[in-house]
Amino acid sequence: MLTSKSCPLRIGRRVALTALTALGLSALVPGAVSQVQAQEVNVYSYRQTFLMEPLFEAFEQESGIKINFLYANKGLLERARAEGMLSPADVFLTSDFGRLIDAKTMGLTQPLSDADIESNLPAQYRDPDGHWFGLTRRARVIFASKDRIDPADVQTYEDLTKPEFKGQICIRSGLHNYNIGLFAAMIASQGSEATEAWLQGVKDNLARRPQGNDRAQVKAIKEGECSLAIGNTYYMGKMLNNPEQVAWAESVNMIFPNQGDRGTHVNVSGMALAKHAPNREQAVAFMRFLLSPKAQAIYASENFEYPVNPAVAPSELLKSWGDYKVEELGLADMAAQRAAASSLVEKLRFNN
Ligand code: FE
Repeated sequence: MLTSKSCPLRIGRRVALTALTALGLSALVPGAVSQVQAQEVNVYSYRQTFLMEPLFEAFEQESGIKINFLYANKGLLERARAEGMLSPADVFLTSDFGRLIDAKTMGLTQPLSDADIESNLPAQYRDPDGHWFGLTRRARVIFASKDRIDPADVQTYEDLTKPEFKGQICIRSGLHNYNIGLFAAMIASQGSEATEAWLQGVKDNLARRPQGNDRAQVKAIKEGECSLAIGNTYYMGKMLNNPEQVAWAESVNMIFPNQGDRGTHVNVSGMALAKHAPNREQAVAFMRFLLSPKAQAIYASENFEYPVNPAVAPSELLKSWGDYKVEELGLADMAAQRAAASSLVEKLRFNN
């Protein structure tokens, strides 16, 4: 039996919870609640530790408020639900808007109306009822081999279904949130029939079963396993700044699709205030901080994401990628199609 002393799952400063799902909820230690004290914020984070560390440190320095965080790529909302009123969670951080909507739907959030937050965040990037707030934007783009693909041949998501690209596409799981977001947006703007035909066309052109993360697809292009992939923009920044991955990044062109028509699909990462936040005041201070120009500049420069705060410019690298047309779709309209997108992936046996 795990004790709270030896258990790697307890909430503690800088404790990342990577094994949550493998161990299951029954292994979790509710005793963490007793560790909650004033001048702390407990963060349940779907965003990876290395992405958030610089922001946590900047906030701690500025405010004197300590951040305890729990990272997992699955199961955090379910955990908070199981903990109920005793949940130590103050703030949820997610890597896509879908989980923000889930958190609200599951009744895990509370509404927040805050002039500071609202002045830093355009209305299209927050819940109208104040249950969640966007933090960063990222486009889901096409990576195309410099050696084997003429960018002129791949200017739209639809171009990926051309018969000439048979056996040339690599992609992560169709059920991953980033892909579900993209497919849901396509259903919202193009309809379900067109999206089904498109997704079948992409499947017909796959080089291998969907697997790995976004960067693994670019690696596969570099290694010649495929020539086209779909991924998020910030991974280009990450690869260019990683000595082991820079060659992957340099083997591809990054193409912002559909510039001649509806624009490129953009997703947001975000945050929500937990319904039973024991440190509400400190949590709100942390949320204000994440939208401040200082924190937004850290996201822009260290995470290679586009700020949601219009007062903050993208980093030099992102500027070098140029302006692009973003598909104008309400987050709620996209969210409404997420279940349909998952069903479509299953129906087409996209991952098989
Ligand atoms: Fe990511």
